[in-house]
Amino acid sequence: NPPPTLLHPEKWCRGFNHFISQCLIKDFEKRPSVTHLLEHPFIKQVHGKDMSLQKQLAELIQEQQQLGSVAKTRYCTSYSSNIYYSLDDDLVNLEVLDEDTIIHQLQKRYADFQIYTYVGDILIALNPFQNLSIYSPQFSKLYHGVKRSSNPPHIFASADAAYQSMVTFSKDQCIIISGESGAGKTESAHLIVQHLTFLGKANNRALREKILQVNPLVEAFGNACTAINDNSSRFGKYLEMMFTPTGAVMGAKISEYLLEKSRVIKQAVGEKNFHIFYYIYAGLYHQKKLSEYRLPDKKPPRYIDNETGRVMHDIVTKDSYGRQFEAIQHCFRIIGFTDEEVYSVYRILTGILNTGNIEFAAISSQHQTDKSEVPDPEALDNAAALLSIGSEELQEALTSHCVVTRGETIIRTNTVDKAADVRDAMSKALYGRLFSWIVNRINTLLHNAESGMNVGILDIFGFENFARNSFEQLCINIANEQIQFYFNQHIFALEQMEYQSEGIDAATVEYEDNRPLLDMFLQKPMGLLSLLDEESRFPQATDLTLVDKFEDNLRCKYFWRPKGVELSFGIQHYAGKVLYDASAFLEKNRDTLPADIVVVLRTSENKLLQQLFSSPLTKTGTFCTYSLMDLLSKMVVGQPHFIRCIKPNDDREALMFSHERVLLQLRYTGILETVKIRQKGYSHRILFEEFVKRYYYLAFKAHETPLGSRENCLAILEKSKLDNWILGKTKVFLKYYHIEQLNLFLREV
Ligand code: ATP
Ligand code: MG
Repeated sequence: NPPPTLLHPEKWCRGFNHFISQCLIKDFEKRPSVTHLLEHPFIKQVHGKDMSLQKQLAELIQEQQQLGSVAKTRYCTSYSSNIYYSLDDDLVNLEVLDEDTIIHQLQKRYADFQIYTYVGDILIALNPFQNLSIYSPQFSKLYHGVKRSSNPPHIFASADAAYQSMVTFSKDQCIIISGESGAGKTESAHLIVQHLTFLGKANNRALREKILQVNPLVEAFGNACTAINDNSSRFGKYLEMMFTPTGAVMGAKISEYLLEKSRVIKQAVGEKNFHIFYYIYAGLYHQKKLSEYRLPDKKPPRYIDNETGRVMHDIVTKDSYGRQFEAIQHCFRIIGFTDEEVYSVYRILTGILNTGNIEFAAISSQHQTDKSEVPDPEALDNAAALLSIGSEELQEALTSHCVVTRGETIIRTNTVDKAADVRDAMSKALYGRLFSWIVNRINTLLHNAESGMNVGILDIFGFENFARNSFEQLCINIANEQIQFYFNQHIFALEQMEYQSEGIDAATVEYEDNRPLLDMFLQKPMGLLSLLDEESRFPQATDLTLVDKFEDNLRCKYFWRPKGVELSFGIQHYAGKVLYDASAFLEKNRDTLPADIVVVLRTSENKLLQQLFSSPLTKTGTFCTYSLMDLLSKMVVGQPHFIRCIKPNDDREALMFSHERVLLQLRYTGILETVKIRQKGYSHRILFEEFVKRYYYLAFKAHETPLGSRENCLAILEKSKLDNWILGKTKVFLKYYHIEQLNLFLREV
């Protein structure tokens, strides 16, 4: 047998090496030397007699081996099509289906740097916790518009599938990335944007540049270091990339959900504030501009000095924050923010930092004990100056409030604690609104009025379970609960419902339905969030009465209250048990900003700030549920593509595979069931009419307009020589791999 040509020479690129090596190394007992490798028939054959290329390849292979990549994978080479293909790439090919086999497979692949694995049309991505050289432009080329089986599984292939689907069917697509905190969702989202910008090559290079800056900019404001992840998303993000009908990128739009504003004023031990605060403080420090922004140069402001002294140490010794600040300035510029806008943003950010330094003391006189003042006016004056408001007015608004009773306005004083709360509420509101403004501004700058199609990418904050879990974790986990529900709906529920209604006999697959749990959260009027809203409306309510209320009303197995800890309650989430601490739940849910503060901020001479507070301050219900519903309803219109990120260990270690941790994630995300349904089921169900419209070229002449009938579908299917499809009453039932095959035929016709 002649040795198979594994790869087209053009496909050679650095980084691709380990895939080649895996095909070759199995031929050698021991690690071969370069001279040895050069003798190998594969290498001899590559590109005729070009020794330099051969040598290069041999060296690459050797290098790869030294990295510890030993070929264990069962690669079989397709002689005829000049591609190579591995049965291990897709879990659906497994003959034995049980947890052990799946996990063994993933572990084996992970040890071989194969972080991606398919489950039919779904991609599993294991976090490599190291930089792999598989994301270069050469790789984008490699995965462009080719059969999925031509290359090992890759996130680019998933992005490509969404893109091709959009172009072929002129339909919006959405890519849903899920996984727990630190599993790699945000990195995956970046890679998808990178590949889509590559695919959607517009002549407009500037636009592509802009789109690539969106994620870094938004994440500087919305991500932070947590106990789990140094770059943890603290908001949900839905990025839509818009394309012309021919597939050229023409714009982008982001929607943000549920920014964790409370992080501005306080962070748990070992955690940090939003990145931007460190960037700006360090940047101004290195540019010697701290005094211009009225920031102290010896000790960082309280809001970012969680671990006393640490930040200053980092800023002085390492310059990475400072460089990040420059990168952010660059992002602003490229995307098209004006200098004036950027300056206003910096004034607001540094205004917030100064606001955090305002301290209060009690004024006790004989008559009044609940009055507070600002003993040291420095921070107050600084904050007022940066926010372009009056210092006295700000002090008034912080230390007192107006109450209207029976048509009369009375001024009441604030206690020290109350004043501090108002100060923090102001900081949170400033930051939250600034964040939304930045997002909106990006949307305006990247908007394109022409109609087109889009690929949306959903990247939210992952499931969290800390030592102490608060309101924020509850919101985050409920959001993840909804994503899981959406996944179940698409993968299991809708599919199996259609088998029934179309009279198709496909084996049913049992799965863990988290609907009852979602109902417990979202039902009205007795769901947890409704109860929380209701309790938030009672001025006398406390966090304890709230937990009592939960206990009285949520009588189901998913909720429990541990004995002995008053303010605590537990929830059995789809991804595990979480114990919540209800302290400050009411306050956080109310999220009120006193009108006195709004009035003062509206007087600002900073135009941007004025604008941030010009809209009315109404807030209805739990924003948490509404915004996610909004997001899900948006996704429902597009065709979904799922990427499931898995965290192989909790120590962020490369090549470490914790059997236990992976198993847990496979279980709660229902991977085993997903493999089963993809093996047995028909993931694509297309109405006869739609099917004929899409594929009639395969069996009819271009000018013909065949009816969308069962017979015509049959004619197309027979002509295309696919097998394993089924015709239902109104729909064609296809396996996940048929779509790709049909599309390839279409392109060939
Ligand atoms: P969260 O829910 O907290 O936002 P996440 O799922 O978005 O978490 P990421 O921030 O994407 O997690 O990933 C965490 C870290 O894992 C990254 O900062 C990076 O160091 C590493 N990582 C993830 N994916 C990759 C990858 N494909 N290549 C290299 N490193 C990766
Ligand atoms: Mg993230």
